[in-house]
Amino acid sequence: MLLIYSTIIILTFALFCIIVLDNYENIRIRNEEIRLFQTANIVADTYKRNREDIILINTMVKSYGKQANARILILDSEKEVIVDSFNIYVGDKIDNKEIRSSLQGNTKSGTYVLEGRNVLQLSVPIISDIGNEKRIDGAVLISALLEGTFSDVRSLQNTLLQVSTLSLLIALFLTLIAANSLTKPIRSLNHAVEQLSLGHLGYRVKKQGSGEIGKLIDSFNEMSGKLRQIESNRKSFINSISHELKTPLTAIRALIDSLTIGESSIQTYKEYLEDIKQETIRMGQLVDYLLNSIKLEDISLDMTVEDLEDILEDAVKLIRPYAEKNNVSIHVRETESLIIKCDRNKIKEAILNLLDNTVKYKDPVKKQNYIRISIERNRTEARLVIEDNGLGIKRDDLSNIFNRGFRVLDSGIRENSNIEGYGIGLSIVKSIIEKHNWEIFVDSIYGAGSKFIIRVPLR
Ligand code: ADP
Repeated sequence: MLLIYSTIIILTFALFCIIVLDNYENIRIRNEEIRLFQTANIVADTYKRNREDIILINTMVKSYGKQANARILILDSEKEVIVDSFNIYVGDKIDNKEIRSSLQGNTKSGTYVLEGRNVLQLSVPIISDIGNEKRIDGAVLISALLEGTFSDVRSLQNTLLQVSTLSLLIALFLTLIAANSLTKPIRSLNHAVEQLSLGHLGYRVKKQGSGEIGKLIDSFNEMSGKLRQIESNRKSFINSISHELKTPLTAIRALIDSLTIGESSIQTYKEYLEDIKQETIRMGQLVDYLLNSIKLEDISLDMTVEDLEDILEDAVKLIRPYAEKNNVSIHVRETESLIIKCDRNKIKEAILNLLDNTVKYKDPVKKQNYIRISIERNRTEARLVIEDNGLGIKRDDLSNIFNRGFRVLDSGIRENSNIEGYGIGLSIVKSIIEKHNWEIFVDSIYGAGSKFIIRVPLR
């Protein structure tokens, strides 16, 4: 990652330097060209008007040559040097691209490397007006060394190199810090995933940042917490099932032991065998219950058109004797019939489970225990509400009660530790409700009571 960042930064800097240097060099050469063209035009003009006064022309050429820091030659139309500011080529013939072009009436310039030095060479034509015609009498050739320009380019190059190196180092340093702060939370998450895979369920990552990574950390911590909760539910589920299976097994063994010791009458045998039968029935029921709960995920619904009020009535009829035996009164608010499509038996099973819990978790301290049942409806949905004034559920436990194997084993219930259960009932209820694409919610106040709501969409 760092390598990619560094390469991008270096390439960007290099490109930037090349463009800046190239532009600077071009601008400087162009300015030099303009300056020398102006001088060449002045020389050509002065020569045209004073060509007879060769001494004046010589002085003028030398003075402009010095001023422009360049060599100035005046050539006639036969390419012969008439004036040379260095006084060397006078009388010689010179031929080059610039002169040829100027003798055809054009201005021309070019840069060359002569004996290892950069030279700018340009020429302008000397044009005389004869009546209406124009005549090319010769050309002014100027050549100047570009040393100044190139030394300026080199010094700019050095400055840019220094600035670039410094900026590059700062950029790399900042990139390193940024990359580190970006990868740190990912490294922590990676470590946390390793911890989870090693079995440390519930392992949490310290919150770092509030962006996407922060959200990822939150989700991870939530997942980790849920995994721990599921694991602890699983353990307590296995615990309570083992306990429930062990109790009848111990009883059976004790009964068999007492039958094998001593002489028992046939009547005693019969009684003991009846007890053993009852224990095996209890065990059978427990195993059926377990199997049902496990199979529930695969069940298919037998959907028929039903009246929810009718199903509710059936369930209440079944639970009423048990409720009355436990001093819990049931109040069903009068409702109209509600025709829906559902699996009648499964919905009855779910309602029975909820009603069974309301009796099981009644508050023995309260004088009056009651269950209130109602069906509320509007145009889009119906709500079946089952409310009790039982023990209630602590806020922290509310999100867990629908998990398989979860039981509230706090002091409130321990006092009533004779309450039987395996923590499966509500998970079955939830599965049935969700299979119908309905919803179930719970609201409860610890010590005051609970309210279970089944939401049935009507559209
Ligand atoms: P079980 O009743 O076998 O323990 P459930 O899945 O039916 O299992 O219920 C899970 C837990 O939710 C119970 O252990 C109990 O603590 C709590 N609970 C369920 N219904 C009620 C209720 N009506 N009032 C108070 N607590 C309840």
